[in-house]
Amino acid sequence: MARFVRSYPERCTGCRVCELACSMAHDGVFNPEKARITIHTRSLERMERALVCVHCDKPRCMDACPVDAISKDPTSGLVSVDGEACTGCGECVEACPFDAMKLHPETGKAINCDLCGGDPLCVSYCRPGALEFGGTGHG
Ligand code: SF4
Ligand code: SF4
Repeated sequence: MARFVRSYPERCTGCRVCELACSMAHDGVFNPEKARITIHTRSLERMERALVCVHCDKPRCMDACPVDAISKDPTSGLVSVDGEACTGCGECVEACPFDAMKLHPETGKAINCDLCGGDPLCVSYCRPGALEFGGTGHG
């Protein structure tokens, strides 16, 4: 069973510090477009929620990839993209039911949450406690 970053929309203030922490950790820049977590605003409810990979038990992104660039670690459950193999076709982005896969704006390769190697920075920086590293069992 994979651990993942769980979000609690009712606590999210929409500050988007999580996106900045993520892009800084992975790309060395403050740029939400490069973040592996995305804050989405539901305008009707006026509520923010974080879109982030839950490392599904049966990843639809993996099934959709025509070049087998996505794999799931049998031990940790982590779903990851092989950046060398990825062609940037975007099939995985379309297939993800959680809008958690995106294409990097510069490389064009697919990117998802990699849990920062086991200590997700977004969780550490979310002061309102809207993110938690824990839960298992999805999809
Ligand atoms: S990118 Fe989407 S479909 Fe793939 S493992 Fe993550 S949440 Fe599941
Ligand atoms: S964008 Fe990359 S990882 Fe996603 S389906 Fe296409 S080749 Fe596979």
